[in-house]
Amino acid sequence: MSTMSAPLSPGFVNGDVSFWYRSLGLPVPGDPLGGDIEADVAIVGAGYTGLWTAYYLKKARPSLRVVVLEKEFAGFGASGRNGGWLTGALAGTPERYAKTHGPDAARRLQRSMFGAVDEVVRVAAEEGIEADIVKGGITTVARSAAQAGRLREDLAWQRDWGWTEEDVRLLPPEEMDARLRVNGAVSATWSPHCARIQPAKLARGLARAVRDLGVEIYERTPVTEIARGRAVTPHGTVTAGHVLRCTEGFTATIPGHHRDWLPMNSSMIVTEPLPEKVWDSIGWAGRELLGDMAHYYMYAQRTADDRIAFGGRGKPYLYGSKVDERGHTHAWTVDALWDLLTSFFPAVGSSRVAHAWSGVLGVPRDWCATVHVDHTTGLGWAGGYTGHGVTTTNLAGRTLCDLVLRRETELTALPWVDRRVRAWEPEPLRWLGVHSMYRLYRLADARENRGMTRTSALAKIANKITGH
Ligand SMILES: Cc1cc2nc3c(=O)[nH]c(=O)nc-3n(C[C@H](O)[C@H](O)[C@H](O)COP(=O)(O)OP(=O)(O)OC[C@H]3O[C@@H](n4cnc5c(N)ncnc54)[C@H](O)[C@@H]3O)c2cc1C
Repeated sequence: MSTMSAPLSPGFVNGDVSFWYRSLGLPVPGDPLGGDIEADVAIVGAGYTGLWTAYYLKKARPSLRVVVLEKEFAGFGASGRNGGWLTGALAGTPERYAKTHGPDAARRLQRSMFGAVDEVVRVAAEEGIEADIVKGGITTVARSAAQAGRLREDLAWQRDWGWTEEDVRLLPPEEMDARLRVNGAVSATWSPHCARIQPAKLARGLARAVRDLGVEIYERTPVTEIARGRAVTPHGTVTAGHVLRCTEGFTATIPGHHRDWLPMNSSMIVTEPLPEKVWDSIGWAGRELLGDMAHYYMYAQRTADDRIAFGGRGKPYLYGSKVDERGHTHAWTVDALWDLLTSFFPAVGSSRVAHAWSGVLGVPRDWCATVHVDHTTGLGWAGGYTGHGVTTTNLAGRTLCDLVLRRETELTALPWVDRRVRAWEPEPLRWLGVHSMYRLYRLADARENRGMTRTSALAKIANKITGH
């Protein structure tokens, strides 16, 4: 891949949370907590996990006092910055969920994920949340012989885990060509289980729906301590029967949880609106999401206003689990994403980068998500979605609701409930492990792009290092 400096629009913005807030305007954070209060359930974090949990709790039991504590504003984290893939893909691998509960339970979790895509679409329609949702599915392309081999292996593996021909299929070349023309694509699959969303619109709409149900969201209210029966903030303490930690990529900043989930960065750029002639050469009329089979993978969407939003790993991890909060993105990440985008779609080279931003997501040591409520302490949490949280947070919210209400349901029997995962290693091992993994991924991709026909052994070593 060549390296050139990305052309930037005159009004280019770096960070400022995300492009998704640019058209909406960054929310003015609401009032902080005004002193000590009592509640039935205190939720820490107003991203999708916290908001979905509050939504289902209040729907199920309107009399509950549900309080959400958010350190900035609702949707400030990954929920207001992501790539907008409302995807049915699992957070983690079915093998790991099957380990404790057996393969059928892992297949049930997979089907629940497919159902959760439709549940988000349903609730958005019911609550009047306009989030540019289009359920056009997802196309995954292979752009080298090695990637094509992996795509075939993945398909066979998905069949083993219950994905039927209706759930995912290889695209014949003429259908691929009619959908989306990616430079250098040698094969592709398509799955219907994905919808495009505008992330900040979903976060904002959910926060509004939750408030309308009577949930109190206190913004500019950082929680400094979570303990049995209480969430402590500089503005007062919420005493509650249940305290739920919904802080995903920020979890490492909460005392006692520094090594639970590694904060991994993901970065995005968005182009200017692209003219008709560019779309003529690309296609993409169905607005499906787009991903690839590289180790250092990308993800993309065609936005409602006809730009391409394109993401991938930037600087993957900051020493000591630091979180870069307002989304500022290094120039070399912007350049690398631009290079990759224009290698996918050379016609986009006539456009420019309008905005770049980054965010953090939570990665557990075994790369699989968990939901948990301990009734003896009243403490609970959900997260560790490893970059697959847009849909999974909905499933998590419904599951946390059932767990808090002590209901035994199909959701509470799913194999990600109550999983125990070991902590990450202390520094400098954590930094070395993650950086070696991504360095090896980059080398593996480069070798495969130079004509290897099989997956590079370097990628397998990388997976071993961090248990990916
Ligand atoms: C750039 C990027 C692209 C992504 N693309 C996709 C995608 O296309 N599809 C997909 O499925 N997933 C994607 N993800 C992941 C997905 O966005 C997340 O998994 C999901 O949004 C997690 O939601 P959450 O509510 O658990 O966490 P968050 O949205 O991060 O919310 C956590 C909230 O907690 C608040 N908080 C943190 N600490 C405290 C504290 N001490 N006190 C009070 N509040 C606190 C934060 O301010 C934040 O608002 C992406 C992530 C990033 C960063």
